Amino acid sequence: MIRGYSEKAKTPLKIILNVRDIYSYLYCPIWAYILKTYHFKQPVTRKMLQGKALHELRYVATKFLIKGLNIQEAIKLAVQEVTEKFNELKPSETKNVIQDFYKNYEILKHIPEKFEYEVYLKSETLGLKGRIDIIENGHPIEIKYTNMKTGFPEKIQLTLYTLLLEEKTRKNVEYGFIENWKTGEKIKIQFTEKLREEAIKMRNNAIKYFYIEKTKHIKKAKVSIKKCKNCEIEEFCKTIINH
Ligand code: SF4
Repeated sequence: MIRGYSEKAKTPLKIILNVRDIYSYLYCPIWAYILKTYHFKQPVTRKMLQGKALHELRYVATKFLIKGLNIQEAIKLAVQEVTEKFNELKPSETKNVIQDFYKNYEILKHIPEKFEYEVYLKSETLGLKGRIDIIENGHPIEIKYTNMKTGFPEKIQLTLYTLLLEEKTRKNVEYGFIENWKTGEKIKIQFTEKLREEAIKMRNNAIKYFYIEKTKHIKKAKVSIKKCKNCEIEEFCKTIINH
């Protein structure tokens, strides 16, 4: 089995890529290209702000649960704390986030013994860096707040984080989770040999794309109308490629 500390996992080039960039590359290569090449600062959207508030609710509620509060008390206090902190959200937006959190609170039913959040990791050997949303009892968790279905990019993202975690701790990690607080899904991801191989391949493809062959790829890249409809940089994108 390939592990984060295996010879096979090493980066072929002395480059450190952010796992988020590899995720962007898998989601939409044009988007990833624009953000990286033009150092395009993505505007903070209402959707992103709500996502941040949701992440915070998840962290704070878990901390209260670990302290011994019951689920209702933990959520109530977390909501109070997060509402004060995210005062730039409109009341209707705060209400939506809180409603989704209450609706899907069963995601929190297992109280972890060990809990860390926003864990930053970097490895020159793997050529990767990134921030894991949550590590519960040694298992990485990626939090999403979206109507989009969990797919290949999300699985690769979590597997790359796992390689980083294994390389740092030298402990093997067999599975992790992707939580979606919009849909209430909590999916267990088993880090099989095949998935690890795919993740390493995608890292290598992303290196090639960003540093070696980007113009060749950008000309071939396909536009996805569904994704473009929700894209914050659509106008800028149209100035570069034909839609
Ligand atoms: S507008 Fe569409 S093709 Fe362009 S970056 Fe956004 S999602 Fe990708």
